[in-house]
Amino acid sequence: MAATSVAALAAPRLGSPAPAPRKVSARASSAHSDNVHGTVVRSGTRHARSPWNPTGARLRLRASLSRLVQTPGAIANPEPEGPKAGTEDDAPVVFTFPSRDEDEDLGASQTESSADAPRDSGIVTFEVEPSAFHSMDDEFDAIASKVAADDKKKAEADAARPNPSPPSRTVIVGGGPTGLATAIALARRGWENVEVWERLRRPARPDDTAVWGDPDRSYNVGVSGRGQIALEKLGACERVLRYCKRVNGRMDWSPQSPDGVMRLSDKKYATQVIQRDRLVAVLLEEIEEKYSAQINVFHSTACSKCEWLPGGGATLTREPAFVGANGDDGLIDSPSSSATAEEQKEDAPFVRVVEPFVPFVVGAEGATRTNAVLDAMDGDGGVAVTRYKDTNPRVYKTIPINLPSEKFRSDLNYSARTKEGVALECLPTKEGMLVGILLVKPGDAKTCAILESKNKLRKYFDEQFPMFAPYVEDDDLARMAKRRLSALPTFSHAGEKSVHRVDFDFDKNKNKNKTSDALELGGACLLGDSIHTVKPYFGLGVNSAFEDVCVLDACLDEVAARAKSAGEGDSASPSASSWTSALPLFSARRAADAKALVDISRGFDGGFLTFVLPLILDGIFHKALPGLFMPNTIQMLQKEDWTFSRVARRKRTERVAQVAILSTLLAAVAWLVGKAAKAALGAIARAIATGAA
Ligand SMILES: Cc1cc2nc3c(=O)[nH]c(=O)nc-3n(C[C@H](O)[C@H](O)[C@H](O)COP(=O)(O)OP(=O)(O)OC[C@H]3O[C@@H](n4cnc5c(N)ncnc54)[C@H](O)[C@@H]3O)c2cc1C
Repeated sequence: MAATSVAALAAPRLGSPAPAPRKVSARASSAHSDNVHGTVVRSGTRHARSPWNPTGARLRLRASLSRLVQTPGAIANPEPEGPKAGTEDDAPVVFTFPSRDEDEDLGASQTESSADAPRDSGIVTFEVEPSAFHSMDDEFDAIASKVAADDKKKAEADAARPNPSPPSRTVIVGGGPTGLATAIALARRGWENVEVWERLRRPARPDDTAVWGDPDRSYNVGVSGRGQIALEKLGACERVLRYCKRVNGRMDWSPQSPDGVMRLSDKKYATQVIQRDRLVAVLLEEIEEKYSAQINVFHSTACSKCEWLPGGGATLTREPAFVGANGDDGLIDSPSSSATAEEQKEDAPFVRVVEPFVPFVVGAEGATRTNAVLDAMDGDGGVAVTRYKDTNPRVYKTIPINLPSEKFRSDLNYSARTKEGVALECLPTKEGMLVGILLVKPGDAKTCAILESKNKLRKYFDEQFPMFAPYVEDDDLARMAKRRLSALPTFSHAGEKSVHRVDFDFDKNKNKNKTSDALELGGACLLGDSIHTVKPYFGLGVNSAFEDVCVLDACLDEVAARAKSAGEGDSASPSASSWTSALPLFSARRAADAKALVDISRGFDGGFLTFVLPLILDGIFHKALPGLFMPNTIQMLQKEDWTFSRVARRKRTERVAQVAILSTLLAAVAWLVGKAAKAALGAIARAIATGAA
């Protein structure tokens, strides 16, 4: 019987196994317990026959197998039994798992009967009746049909949605999370000729664990409830979650709490952590599997120029982009290139292409300096980008940390802060390691110099971050020293009123040079970090970006539905049924929200007065009068059903009420103190007078 390798399982000890088992051995550490069920599935013959994507159903299978293992009849009787009669296929199957300490070398136990293993050997054994496996096959089939039925239902629902007549071509500039999510939203509407231009090279496949276990590939982002709801609407949530690590709280060390404080969260949606570039890779996979006929993604392709056409739409220029390892011509690290940008340029032909007419341009270029669409929109057609001076800048370097699962929970974010204000923020990856981000003030020359030297870094970690130091490798410190410092983004937003442009206006007949019959409508809009750049402290960047995409999608639904109820068909040309009508609606729905998000985040990027004091006040008032005062702003920002403008409005009102209540209290106290003082003075005066008499 061939032994099958099974990833580890955090499992209850069940005692001695049944004799004469078919044996399936397992090795790996409990830190990887997430994978166990998927690996079991891979090893099954049924899996090979299954017509559906096995990774696609892994999450569901995990639940199925958990049920299976917990089914009393499917698990070995804790007491040893005699051998069961029957063929080998009928024999019970035993999974033998190492204890945490013994996960490295299972050679001997793989060939011995697990019945020989003493009760306290650390070997954990399950016996699963063969019938359970057969029923699991049935479950696989049931799941496969359900997946197919779900997909069909979703496709039918998409087809039934109201849809404005689409543009003949859409170019999305920027293939980050926002650009790819936008492409998916448009393709789900049935739009064709959707292109994504991305200056970086294509990232590795999301299941390439060798690559994504390497923290040099990307920083981690947390996908919160907001992001998960938006991804669900786009049909991509399950695929994204497959590559995420769920976190259930955090552990923080600070000069005030040197032993660390753990806080577990009871949020409705647990935060799911994934590398930013891996998130991109997952969305690419979603596109390639479901929408490849409608969406083309061009990597290493930069939009270098965007010029608006008087009749609507734009002329776009694209050219090859050469981004070397460590992003040596840009701000974002390139995950897949080991050559420098100069070396790449020498090897590749340079062809600049001008696309004379692109009706719909989407700017999803993020917060980089390389943007073309945002630059062309800024100060033109109502968009007015505000870039704030960074009064509290931070630069950072990443470092991998391998915390042992015996000592540390693997489902937490970890952070530590030094007396000097240097912070180490660590988020876990699916593969188990933490990606730490060491954040320093750029003006802190002493620490910045330490970050350049491997030896100094070792000493620095030993002294300042003793809780992590034993789990940081020298090689990683050497790489960290060589890596250049990256800057956290600075705050900016694209204006309170407009994040779009539509040049052609049939009603006002602005286009003198073309007849309306010959003209295709044109327009552009901005989404994601391009309209709201915030620092990552509250984990809202990518989550609000996914919400932007859903808002645009809903606006397209709305204009189509409105036009339909007003009796206009898709064929009506100069009409509100055009997709361009959704763009002003998108601005109306999202521009103020984008600004509110930036304003709130910026307000918190300060010291005691703007950050700590409001949190303290909110805490006191919410506790005293929960019916009147909501939790603090940071918690409110995580409320999935609240827009950022609504949070801002509510908090402004509460702040006024807080000031009024505090002023009244102070006035009352002052009055009482005054009265008491007056009474005391009167008494003293009377006493003196009596004494004198
Ligand atoms: C250290 C760090 C931690 C973070 N943590 C979190 C978190 O926990 N939660 C959270 O929600 N957010 C977090 N964020 C923010 C999050 O990464 C961004 O909000 C998110 O990536 C925005 O997505 P985007 O697609 O709008 O922009 P980007 O991710 O910046 O993508 C834009 C893409 O456009 C490409 N591009 C730009 N210009 C051009 C051009 N002219 N032609 C072609 N391509 C172009 C760029 O190469 C880039 O790939 C974090 C950010 C940082 C830096």
